[in-house]
Amino acid sequence: MIELPTCPDFRVDGKRALVTGGSSGIGLAAATALGRAGAHVTLAARRSAELGNACAALRDSQISCDFVVLDVTQSADVDAAIANALPYDILVNNAGMNRPVPLIEQNDDEIDQVFEVNVKAAFYTSRAVARRLLAANRPGSIINISSQMGHVGSPGRVLYCASKHAMEGMTKALAWELGAKNIRVNSICPTFIETPMTAAMFDKPGFRQWVCERIALGRLGRVDEVMGAVVFLASSASSLMTGSALMLDGGWTAA
Ligand code: NDP
Repeated sequence: MIELPTCPDFRVDGKRALVTGGSSGIGLAAATALGRAGAHVTLAARRSAELGNACAALRDSQISCDFVVLDVTQSADVDAAIANALPYDILVNNAGMNRPVPLIEQNDDEIDQVFEVNVKAAFYTSRAVARRLLAANRPGSIINISSQMGHVGSPGRVLYCASKHAMEGMTKALAWELGAKNIRVNSICPTFIETPMTAAMFDKPGFRQWVCERIALGRLGRVDEVMGAVVFLASSASSLMTGSALMLDGGWTAA
């Protein structure tokens, strides 16, 4: 009798997941996906009312959930929040922002803010989560919500592209630092998805058409289309994958 290989498990039962920016958009979708796949999820963001509402909705859906009010750009607060909790097996670095204007119009505050949230915060959370996992000798999965803009350039997005390219570099290098301890680090790179972050962009006449013409599928992405990738990267189904980027870009970067 031929012995068939065992199919990988997409469940994450018994795992603990921290999702930054988990109260909205892609982060809430990631938290929902991980919760439905069996994980306990902790949402982290700044606005407590939004966190409470998101957590209540997850619990209504029989998902084990809590939340922490946390500005992920504050290194000491990140360290304290993660040190005071049980170790997280899964970290989704999702909190992010964009200030899309041409570089010649970009001010210093915007440059600082985008790098604080999109780059430095992911360093702080990854460092704190990895420290706990290494101390407990546990495997883990760090998932960076990057962007197709971590792989290409685009007008009005010099700052955002630079921040997401930095996240891609961090993903690759950290995968090497943590790989021997079975802590994997990967990124997810979505195309444009309608969320609070992109709402103002799509209010601009012609922008939606400009975007859709650059997506092979001819349409924007949806938050639910990120959920499968999150579960895949969090679970043992992706056990051989680290330092990689999953493109969820509808074909944008295949042009
Ligand atoms: P949203 O604006 O819907 O959500 C952003 C989340 O991040 C909110 O929960 C917000 O909560 C939280 N957040 C922002 N700043 C901080 C902070 N300093 N500390 C803690 N939490 C913070 O954004 P999206 O869902 O659209 O984007 C999520 C990620 O996906 C981002 O990294 C973005 O770059 C990336 N992405 C988005 C795409 C899109 O088209 N939407 C495409 C590709 C990538 P609060 O304000 O309460 O802190």
